[in-house]
Amino acid sequence: MKTLLVTGGAGFIGANFVLQAIAAGHTVVNLDKLTYAGNLRTLASLEGNDRHIFVQGDIGDRALVGKLLASRRPAAIVNFAAESHVDRSIDGPAEFIPTNVVGTLGLLECARDYWRGLAGHESSAFRFLHVSTDEVYGSLGNDGLFTEATPYAPNSPYSASKASSDHLVRAFHHTYGLPTLTTNCSNNYGPFQFPEKLIPLVIQKALAGEPLPVYGDGLNVRDWLFVEDHCGAIARVLEGGRVGETYNVGGNSERNNITVVKTICAILDEVSPMASGAKHETLITFVRDRPGHDRRYAIDATKLKDELGWTPAHTFDSGIRATVQWYLDNKSWVQGILDGSYQLERLGA
Ligand code: NAD
Repeated sequence: MKTLLVTGGAGFIGANFVLQAIAAGHTVVNLDKLTYAGNLRTLASLEGNDRHIFVQGDIGDRALVGKLLASRRPAAIVNFAAESHVDRSIDGPAEFIPTNVVGTLGLLECARDYWRGLAGHESSAFRFLHVSTDEVYGSLGNDGLFTEATPYAPNSPYSASKASSDHLVRAFHHTYGLPTLTTNCSNNYGPFQFPEKLIPLVIQKALAGEPLPVYGDGLNVRDWLFVEDHCGAIARVLEGGRVGETYNVGGNSERNNITVVKTICAILDEVSPMASGAKHETLITFVRDRPGHDRRYAIDATKLKDELGWTPAHTFDSGIRATVQWYLDNKSWVQGILDGSYQLERLGA
């Protein structure tokens, strides 16, 4: 069992990863700044667990990160910390640089200096795993899939900042020999996702009987990945990935947005029908598209399957059903967010 330094472990994917890592017997030092997206309620089940050490702080704080590395001596760093919402990056691109670019650079420098001080097995086994997105590859037409060899062509301020961080990770491997791994995944969904993102937003609005906003013509395609599958893939790459390599992670679940929204509506008609007897689908409202909205993302995850034997356990149908049920069973978790700074408003218009 290992000690891991996980950054952004109070966010959506990071917290799911922390919960899995603790369940697997690892010790997690969880460094999170607790921005609007960080939520300690997600980690409530770990209260009193001495294998979860939560530290509020910034990945760009070199003194803090250096101290944590020296005192906790992790076997790996898994970097989830980021500003992660495309629509927010349209409203305020400058906010994405300090964490996604400069913060990642600071973390890499600390990791390099720490790793240089390790010896023997500690040194050879150390890994820096950087979690990134398929959005760095730009947009696809009707055909084709992103592979690890697809050239970078980021289109939003968010994806440009993530692309920049990926390049820094690559450079730290090539220049300093830092044993890095990078994963580029498709859109995640599942428990504990902040309700600004499509799937939890639609579930919340449908439950409230409010209009369900669908951007543009609703035909933008994403390859949906259940978050627990994603976390399993990251664990697999951490264990067996080849140093310096990148691995694409996808859910084999391409769906356009309107299909995703209609699927959620159909499940809610079954498990939480509207009092009026109307179908949830009648709430769908097409709204002005996101500026620069990428048309289609789709992942070829063959490398991960062939090298490390990973495939997703969930289909879209099983994952979305589990997700809708989770939001029905955890209304107080969502309410805790909606009582704060975000009330399901449109961002990035
Ligand atoms: P999230 O927005 O839910 O969580 C991000 C977390 O990082 C929050 O807890 C926040 O407090 C923390 N954080 C932000 N800035 C920080 C800083 N400077 N120092 C320390 N902590 C900081 O994001 P998510 O959806 O869980 O995404 C996690 C990672 O996965 C991100 O790097 C994102 O780019 C990537 N990713 C996400 C998706 C997706 O569909 N959600 C898809 C592909 C890649």
